[in-house]
Amino acid sequence: MSTSTSPPLRIVVAGGSIAGLMAAIILKRLGHDATVYERGPAGMGLFKDSETI
Ligand SMILES: Cc1cc2nc3c(=O)[nH]c(=O)nc-3n(C[C@H](O)[C@H](O)[C@H](O)COP(=O)(O)OP(=O)(O)OC[C@H]3O[C@@H](n4cnc5c(N)ncnc54)[C@H](O)[C@@H]3O)c2cc1C
Repeated sequence: MSTSTSPPLRIVVAGGSIAGLMAAIILKRLGHDATVYERGPAGMGLFKDSETI
């Protein structure tokens, strides 16, 4: 599902919760190289108390 016409970009996403992970997935699908940096041990929002991450 690549609709991007620009050359692949190297993108840093700050925050590994729902918004950051979704941004990274979409950027990857568009052909870019996205790296997620999370300051906590896991995403703090929806995943704060998750045992599955
Ligand atoms: C108590 C509580 C209960 C909730 N219950 C629900 C619910 O039942 N249903 C629902 O739909 N929503 C709920 N929400 C709202 C939901 O958690 C948020 O809407 C959602 O998590 C927002 O996602 P986000 O990715 O934008 O931000 P966040 O989940 O806040 O994630 C931001 C991430 O970025 C990281 N970060 C921040 N700054 C940096 C930095 N400089 N470098 C690296 N990482 C960084 C943080 O550590 C964090 O992991 C609740 C929120 C709270 C506080």
